[in-house]
Amino acid sequence: MLDLTRKEVLERKALRINPCKICQPVGAMYCALGVERCMPHSHGSQGCCSYHRTVLSRHFKEPAIAASSSFTEGTSVFGGRSNINTAVKNIFDIYNPDIIAVHTTCLSETIGDDLGSYILDMDIPDGKLVVHCNTPSYVGSHINGFFNMMMGFMNYLTKKSGTCNGKTAIFPGWVNPGDLREIKRLCAMMGVDIICFPDQSGVMDAPMTGKYEMYPNGGTSVAQIRALGDCAGVLGLGEITNVEPVQLLEKKWKVPGKLLKAPIGVRFTDEFLMELQHVSKQEVPSSLETERGQLVDLLLDSHAYTFQKKVALFGDPDTVEGLTSLCLEMGLTPKYVITGTPKEDFARNVNALFERYHAEGCVVKANADLFDLHQWIKNEPVDLLLGTTYGKQIAKAEDIPFVRAGFPVLDRYGHTLQPIVGYRGAIRMVEKITDALMTRLERDSSDEDFEIVL
Ligand code: SF4
Repeated sequence: MLDLTRKEVLERKALRINPCKICQPVGAMYCALGVERCMPHSHGSQGCCSYHRTVLSRHFKEPAIAASSSFTEGTSVFGGRSNINTAVKNIFDIYNPDIIAVHTTCLSETIGDDLGSYILDMDIPDGKLVVHCNTPSYVGSHINGFFNMMMGFMNYLTKKSGTCNGKTAIFPGWVNPGDLREIKRLCAMMGVDIICFPDQSGVMDAPMTGKYEMYPNGGTSVAQIRALGDCAGVLGLGEITNVEPVQLLEKKWKVPGKLLKAPIGVRFTDEFLMELQHVSKQEVPSSLETERGQLVDLLLDSHAYTFQKKVALFGDPDTVEGLTSLCLEMGLTPKYVITGTPKEDFARNVNALFERYHAEGCVVKANADLFDLHQWIKNEPVDLLLGTTYGKQIAKAEDIPFVRAGFPVLDRYGHTLQPIVGYRGAIRMVEKITDALMTRLERDSSDEDFEIVL
């Protein structure tokens, strides 16, 4: 399918080919699905909303509920006030959520709808809430939409009572439900009382019960979001996704914040646990030391098959940075590292990793696309591709082993239930990566080298 991609790299400024990102409202919708009994609402045309729901449903293999203002040609001329008023009334009457989280789309941003004033004038039923954020899709990516929606919730709901609740707010960033469960498990083992916001576990990995629940049992509650202003501190897991939400809580309510790397791989998980230890003043339990020791043992055992193999990584910035760190711990060479999200801090952070591990000749780029990556691979091939489903055509065209990770993974099952964070998540990723490399080794080996024991 991509066999005709040219090798010659030409400078492009105003053109993206196979973008390594999705538009902002997808992130806003996923964030809102992590709030208890919340209906995400797309203020724009039905087509945008359908696309955003579809990509989330295909990744999570779960229904992603959301409503739309259903813009028409007339709305584009006269504005969307009457549409949102009718929509909010209908949603509370028919679907009965506790809260509606409205995000904008390209169209409502372009016509300049002032959602803040529309919501102020709305007739909202007692005990119900409507919040909003702006998600213009012609800037940023789904990661911007995700943290913009977090800030929308916090701007409307957070309070400070004056009494510290002693809890630590955890902003997990854009991760799968399996990762959220692992993050919460680590916090519980370290004795840290947390509010995790947002929290899609229970919602986007709901069990089959034989009965459809529009609002499955999960999500950060409105009361918990209100209480964020009373927390003793906030930890943002993922420096790029969480910098603005952490700053908001610091500036608005003087909650001391700290940004950490997404806890992927040995080093970044160590840093997360050390921070939890600092909060709880508890020793790391021996069971976690055992998990770490098993991971390090696995790194040593598999080293012969991973050392100096070249890998190309792509996806969301914090996830890719964490996976790059894990690849370096495995002895892999992260030859190409890209994200489509336009955040230059990403390149600075990944370059710091290259320096720490003395990785020579590696390239990192933010605001890049998969066409860039494919052309680089054509000029200097890699041994492994690590990223989202959107890399599968490159893997096929260049005959490269491919390990799926990040968002979206549209063509595999079960991945959202399993973590990539923590020592357990790293063990899983090391297994997947080493398996892919060893499978290729066996496929390419001659009969006399085709061994039962490797
Ligand atoms: S029009 Fe804008 S908001 Fe709608 S799907 Fe396209 S990029 Fe996303």
